[in-house]
Amino acid sequence: LTSGLESAWNKLKGEEVLTKENIAEPMRDIRRALLEADVSLPVVRRFVQTVSDQAVGTGLIRGVRPDQQLVKIVNDELVKLMGGEVSELVFAKSGPTVILLAGLQGVGKTTVGAKLALYLKKQGKNCMLIAGDVYRPAAIDQLVILGEQVGVPVYAAGTEIKPADIARQGLEEAKKKNVDVVIMDTAGRLQIDKGMMDELKEVKRVLNPTEVLLVVDAMTGQEAAALVTTFNVEIGITGAILTKLDGDSRGGAALSVKEVSGKPIKLVGRGERMEDLEPFYPDRMAGRVLGMGDVLSFVEKAQEVMRQEDAEELQKKIMSAKFDFNDFLKQTRAVARMGSMSRVIGMIPGMGKVTPAQIREAEKSLKVMESMIEAMAPEEREKPELLAESATRRKRIAQESGKTEQQVSQLVAQLFQMRVRMKNLMGVMEGGSLPALNN
Ligand code: GDP
Ligand code: MG
Repeated sequence: LTSGLESAWNKLKGEEVLTKENIAEPMRDIRRALLEADVSLPVVRRFVQTVSDQAVGTGLIRGVRPDQQLVKIVNDELVKLMGGEVSELVFAKSGPTVILLAGLQGVGKTTVGAKLALYLKKQGKNCMLIAGDVYRPAAIDQLVILGEQVGVPVYAAGTEIKPADIARQGLEEAKKKNVDVVIMDTAGRLQIDKGMMDELKEVKRVLNPTEVLLVVDAMTGQEAAALVTTFNVEIGITGAILTKLDGDSRGGAALSVKEVSGKPIKLVGRGERMEDLEPFYPDRMAGRVLGMGDVLSFVEKAQEVMRQEDAEELQKKIMSAKFDFNDFLKQTRAVARMGSMSRVIGMIPGMGKVTPAQIREAEKSLKVMESMIEAMAPEEREKPELLAESATRRKRIAQESGKTEQQVSQLVAQLFQMRVRMKNLMGVMEGGSLPALNN
């Protein structure tokens, strides 16, 4: 981190109000983070403007520091920018729901088609795929193979036929077979060109689709805004699917879609497996975009600040040797929160990426600890020594919480270990030995 940047946020910490002047540097920081995340420049500009206006306009909330408040405004605006909530797919009221997939070549349309068919099949929908990429025989084979893989029929009519005609025939077939959802794959080009757009328009006219989903590669970056705009203006989209989010792109494209088209991202692809399709969560994406702005990650800054604050409070507790099970619970919960936050933002400072499995594990062990702490009497929570001294008490807690005595002993030992570790951390060395558990 550059020292200038650090001091910008530090300076903010002491401020009484957010002003145009004192947020100028942090906002530059954010701007840079967004540009690094490949968000299109006009989108960044509008965003920074919106956040600045809002930051200056809002009074400080008591108990929330100005820098944290700014981070929150940024995060909330980012989430809003991407549509706020999860946007569900729309289904036709009667007759088959028709989903038309569009997008440039290689972005993952054909893959998404099959993934989506599987996704909807799991929801109990009877699906059918239509192979509309008539330019490469291999493209049809690809869809047929994927269709087999996910157990969904594929309507294919070869390459000697216009996509619009395939669409018409496919749709007729689907109606005959009482299919719930028809997904049409189309041909892409390397760049937007008139031929592709005309063809898509024609297919759209024939299908009258419920959803026209633009498939966008997460690596698209800066050009995303122009791309989405063109597709939306030319053929009219109802939403987008962001693919290849498993790569190391920052996903900046995600920020442009809603902003320039007014249409939400509905789904994301995060891998080559057929199962790798999920709803798009704006809050998680906001974190990713921010979290990936490596050096400039101001979320990291906020977390640092949070940890500092926790540490100060802890220090006081430790100095008075009063770190008890209530604090333990608070601390562990805070760590768990950070864990689930890290899923959102893809990072914890200094810890690198936390895998979902690790988070689940942490959440599980927190539940176990919570149930034991809940079984403690108030005086036991405040004076863990009581538990260290009495096997009877530990036994009671084990029974009440449905855990083993060994688990309770472990928890008690853990608390004292934490006391010691924190004392060492603070450089307060006296009284650093572990009390033995008496039987
Ligand atoms: P299309 O030309 O738009 O139909 O793109 P394809 O569906 O043929 O996909 C192009 C390549 O991207 C293929 O190698 C896919 O396996 C790959 N791909 C598609 N979606 C994803 C994804 O979400 N993650 C990763 N890693 N690869 C993907
Ligand atoms: Mg394809």
